[in-house]
This record gives sequence, C-alpha cells and structure tokens, in this order.
Amino acid sequence: MKRLLMCLTALLLLAAVGCTHEVPSGQLTEDGLHVFFLDVGQADCTLIFSDGHAMLIDGGNTDDGAFIVSFLKEKGVTALDYVVATHAHEDHVGGLTQVLKNFPCKTVYAPVLQADNAAFTRFARQSEQQGGLTQCLRGTRGDLGQAHFEVLFPFEPEKEENVNNTSVVLRLTLGQASFLFVGDLERDAESRLLSFDDDLTSAVLKVGHHGSSTSTSYYFLRRVLPQTAVISCGANNEYGHPHKETIDILNQAEIDIWRTDTMGTVEAVTDGALLTVRAGELVKTAAVLSPTPALDIYYIGNKKSRVFHLPACASLPKENNRVDFSSREEAISAGYTPCSRCRP
Ligand SMILES: [Zn+2]
Ligand SMILES: [Zn+2]
Repeated sequence: MKRLLMCLTALLLLAAVGCTHEVPSGQLTEDGLHVFFLDVGQADCTLIFSDGHAMLIDGGNTDDGAFIVSFLKEKGVTALDYVVATHAHEDHVGGLTQVLKNFPCKTVYAPVLQADNAAFTRFARQSEQQGGLTQCLRGTRGDLGQAHFEVLFPFEPEKEENVNNTSVVLRLTLGQASFLFVGDLERDAESRLLSFDDDLTSAVLKVGHHGSSTSTSYYFLRRVLPQTAVISCGANNEYGHPHKETIDILNQAEIDIWRTDTMGTVEAVTDGALLTVRAGELVKTAAVLSPTPALDIYYIGNKKSRVFHLPACASLPKENNRVDFSSREEAISAGYTPCSRCRP
C-alpha cells in the first residue's frame, strides 16, 4: 500500500512537472497568429497570440489598465511570454503596470531601463517583481509559438534626443506574413533604420506615432510595402491624428487602412498564407503577398557644403548642387560629412 502511494505521488509529481513545461502561458488556442489592436483611445496596445503563447506590445495610458486586464482575462490569458514597452511615453507604458500586477510575464522588454517620467518609473518598479526589465535592442530575437520575431531598432537609444526615436521596431513573422510594429518612431529615425539592408516587407504595418505626419515617410513605406495598415488613435484627439499626409500616402499606395478611432478594436489573423482582418461587422480576407522592395538606398551630397544626406532628408541641395553616392563609405572617402538632421 505504502509503495503504491509512493508510486502515485511520483506519477502526480511527474505530471505536474510535465504540465509546467507543456502548457503554454497565454491562451486563445486557435491556430495561427492572432493580433488584436485594442481600442485604447489616443494610445497603443497590441495583444498577440500564437499557439497558446501571448505577447503584449504597449499597454495604453494608465487609465486603460483595467480595460486591458479584463480583455486579457476574457481571452483566457493567465500569463504572458513577453511584454514589450516600445518607448517610455505614458500612452505606451501607462497601463502596463496594472497588467504586470495581474499576470506573470517571462520577459519584460523596454528600449531603456530607466526614464524621466512617472508612468515609466512605476512600470519599471512593478517589473522588478518579475525579474526586472530586459533591454530590447536591435538584434534581440525570439519565438512566439511557431511565429518568430526580430527587433530592428533602436541600436543606441541613449543617443536619441527624441524619446519617440527610442521606439522598439519589432518584426513578427509566421510563414509569408509579417507584422511590423514601430511604436512612435519618427521619419529621421526611420531613415536611419533604412540605412540597414533589413528585409522590412510586412503584410501589416502598425503605423508609427498614431498616424502623425512626423512618421511614415515615402521611403519607409517603399521598403515595408504593407497591404494593410493599422492606425491606433483616439476619436477627435487633440493632435489631429491621423494626419491627412499619412492617410494620403497610404491611399496613394493603395494600402487598406484600419483605424481604432473609427472602427474600434481591430483583429488580424493569419496562418502565414492568408490574412483576415476584422473590426466589428467588417471582415476582409486576402492572400499574403510577397513583394520585393527595391533596395535602392543611395546618398545625396551637397557639392557646396560637402554634407551628404539620405534621399528622405528635408534639407536636400538643389538639383545642380547634387552628387549621388552609392554607399556611406563612398561619401565619407570623398570628404563629405553626414547631415546632422537625417543622420545618414
Ligand atoms: Zn504614442
Ligand atoms: Zn511617444
């Protein structure tokens, strides 16, 4: 009898150990990659599920915490694999403190470990209960179920004067389908990201900085070539987001635009080959395209000032003063110095 009891105990222990390994932490156990762009007003919050694993990118403003926690619970989340704070502004980290109070998280990523604002400090302090913040920089990568992600930016967040330009740029891929999350990254930092030859092509672009015209340059869009764009912003927000310039450039490129301010929470689902996007009653399904972007990165020198620029720079020389360089090295060895504005 005693031996039988011991055997049973051993079996139960084995089962328990097996469980902690087998059962993924998130829920919503449907096949494929599910991405929810939550309607958190003038803020960002994206919840991603893949094979029972969950990742949360940004957590809205502090007041959105309770809504986000209840949304996660509704989807059956009991723990998160990753929380990513794209940058230290309240409309991105505010609600994350409450999320971390309610759910254990394996890795809490941020581009910086401390910042000069109360919402970020509360979030960093709360993350200490879960092993603290892990710095998330270019080169960070990982898996989420069968999907995988790679961080492409920032690489030197401490050198950025503009907090928006410390934003984590994360590309998440399942099969042919990629999602690009760019936080509030602005045009000058987009240009610096473009100077790498990364494959940025993504079926879905989470549009930078709530659709502000300070983000989403023509050159950036040409490299990402999204078929779907999602803008997270508040109805009648004080900044006028999304700006007309952004909507125009997306329309010109015939990109399908989804907005949380007019459509509420947007959900994108893919098996890596087909992409379905829905918001309320509206549902659209399309095959994931695999466009090949032209990697025509070049630099434009000013013959007079001997400064060189990215083609996206706002202070390009007049046509008759221009000289083109095919690489940064070529410009520098010709005695040209990089522009302090576009930082090529
Ligand atoms: Zn923001
Ligand atoms: Zn910001």
